Amino acid sequence: MTETSQAGAERLLLLGLDLAVRVRDDDPAQLADLLDGLDKEELHQLVLTLARCVDISLPVSEIVWWRSLTSLPRASRGDTPPCGTSRGYKAHMRARELPDLACEVAYRREERERKARTRRAST
Ligand SMILES: [Zn+2]
Repeated sequence: MTETSQAGAERLLLLGLDLAVRVRDDDPAQLADLLDGLDKEELHQLVLTLARCVDISLPVSEIVWWRSLTSLPRASRGDTPPCGTSRGYKAHMRARELPDLACEVAYRREERERKARTRRAST
């Protein structure tokens, strides 16, 4: 018997909530084993389900409560590139700081675009 999409969504939500509890205490290897048991489509759905659970009305510092306060975006000081840019991300790395989410997102987007350009150029 195949699972209905509603039952599948419900199962992934329960799995996601279980992970939300276990990620705080459990061995990361156990969680990795659990995730390895999912197929690619289930993993995508799980990530999207958990993303829907994020309260985006909260400040980023509250959503990523486990990160240190030093990872909050810093104001641009003229001599340093602003947060929310790939250059800002690299400045954090040079300063051995934990990059904030805005810089991390900007850096990853730029890396994805760079890799896509490289792929297109090689085909
Ligand atoms: Zn930054």
